[in-house]
Amino acid sequence: MSRIAYVDGQFVPHRQAAVHVEDRGFQFGDSIYEVWSVRQGKLLDEDGHFSRLERSLAELQIENPRSRASYRLVIRDLLRRNRIRDGLIYLQVSRGVARRNHAFPHHPVPPTLVLTAKSVDVDKAEARAALGIAIITLKDIRWGRCDIKTVNLLPNVLAKQSAVEAGAGEAWLIDRDGNVTEGSSSNAWIVTANGVLVTRPADNSILCGITRMRVFQCAKSLGFLVEERAFSLEEAMLARESFITSASTFVTPVVKIDDQIIGDGAPGSMALALRSIYFKQN
Ligand code: PMP
Repeated sequence: MSRIAYVDGQFVPHRQAAVHVEDRGFQFGDSIYEVWSVRQGKLLDEDGHFSRLERSLAELQIENPRSRASYRLVIRDLLRRNRIRDGLIYLQVSRGVARRNHAFPHHPVPPTLVLTAKSVDVDKAEARAALGIAIITLKDIRWGRCDIKTVNLLPNVLAKQSAVEAGAGEAWLIDRDGNVTEGSSSNAWIVTANGVLVTRPADNSILCGITRMRVFQCAKSLGFLVEERAFSLEEAMLARESFITSASTFVTPVVKIDDQIIGDGAPGSMALALRSIYFKQN
């Protein structure tokens, strides 16, 4: 079956889906995006991702081309046309097409809207989570507004490539003070020796993950304590457990950070409990 994408109001064969060469997303990364996980035909954390989409657009003064209701209709249709039960929805809105000039277009142009969908192999994802992943660490070289979900992902791309080359599942980025900010495409968590979950506060230095916020609720219902504070790489290395969160990886245990084995080298029980309740609560 051939994949279908959605570009500016039309469903098109994925192979032919394209934007203009002077689209500002292509020229400048002047664009924002969102990703939803789909499980059994249902979008997980649907409204949370819509809220962040609206916030990202507002922060960059890009006009929101659609209402939530309209996005929902397109997403449902896209899932149906691609026959997706378990997968991912990707949505991007750019500032639109205009003659190349760094400043915003003088005369307003309509934003470009693109949506794609892909299937995910659930068994493979579960097998990965059951093993846990290794992390490498790198200097955080990103800009000061990591809270906006823009397609300016070059430092993240380079970090993930380094992780792949090192045989690791994710790269954690380290700030000037030696603290972990987040992963290249996920939020970072540790569990202290006395069983407290720790994750960095959502300021401008990280993306406020929608999964991260859901995990706060999951932790509460399991009676786990959560502290929002910066944690150093040294503290992470000594952690009892560690994990990452994102819409595509949910809660995925971390078993190694650089050369340091975390806990006993197997996925931690709190991480696994959170992963399991995440699906139940969604
Ligand atoms: N941080 C970064 C840099 C990301 O790219 C992602 C994934 N979008 C996350 C955190 C996790 O966010 P979410 O849980 O909303 O997917």
